[in-house]
Amino acid sequence: MTFIDSWSNTTTFSSIFHDLESSNLNYVERLWSSWYLYFNNDLFATGLLFFLTHELMYFGRCLPWFIIDRMPYFRRWKIQPTKLPSNKEQWECCKTVFKQHLIFEALPIWLFHPVCQNLNISIDVPFPNWKIMTGQILIFFFAEDLWHYSFHRLFHYGIFYKYIHKIHHRYAAPFGFAAEYAHPVEIMALGFGTVGFPVIYAYVSLHNQQLPPLHLFTICIWITLRLFQAVDSHSGYDFPWSLNKFLPFWAGAEHHDQHHHYFIGNYASSFTWWDWGLGTECGPLAKKRRQDMQHKNAERKAR
Ligand SMILES: [Zn+2]
Ligand SMILES: [Zn+2]
Repeated sequence: MTFIDSWSNTTTFSSIFHDLESSNLNYVERLWSSWYLYFNNDLFATGLLFFLTHELMYFGRCLPWFIIDRMPYFRRWKIQPTKLPSNKEQWECCKTVFKQHLIFEALPIWLFHPVCQNLNISIDVPFPNWKIMTGQILIFFFAEDLWHYSFHRLFHYGIFYKYIHKIHHRYAAPFGFAAEYAHPVEIMALGFGTVGFPVIYAYVSLHNQQLPPLHLFTICIWITLRLFQAVDSHSGYDFPWSLNKFLPFWAGAEHHDQHHHYFIGNYASSFTWWDWGLGTECGPLAKKRRQDMQHKNAERKAR
């Protein structure tokens, strides 16, 4: 951290941020630098940054969905309009998820800085080029989606469902807070898809100079987007302006809502192609598509 290391001792966060105005850094880079300079302890600064990113982005994203649930105007876009979660139900779910975050995720978050140091994950400024960051985030999206599909499908078999995944299926009509309402084993297994791939990428880039190195800010953006995707897919709402209306391969809320409704099929998290390609789509539309395909095949054979 050449730039940060050379900085003089300044006491308050705002004065550090103000002092950095004369640098060539942009607004977010100055915030980032001020954060690390202010704490003067990278282990603590990274740990707290990760914890706050997780809590603020997760619960912050759930809040608008909670408000929308209380507004009848939006009911026309609710996928299962007759199944509205009560305030009590949402509050209980919210408390359980927060407790689980404190118990099961607090420690791994604090261990992340040593991992960053060993794998050369940068916390320096300026940030990498946005094209590099976008490319890395896309890799994480594709990898996580396949990981999620595989393990989620496994969790629907026999004892895995009975003892682990059944907890997440408590809500047949999901809502935002329910995204991370799950057994600790499931949180760890599916959570690997979010945290594990950046770690694998950083390890591979250590030995392959053609791969651009990873920055911690890129990981924060990736985790934020992944949390938004998870909460939104549990929101229970499918709007005319939802992303899946513009990107047909984006799973969106309808895809995962149907998984909760039918308890089977639609296992992927972000994209629809694995369920489509491996014949595990669920819901009336998918059923009709499969029947049409069978008819066509039967007709072709009869000719
Ligand atoms: Zn499931
Ligand atoms: Zn779910």
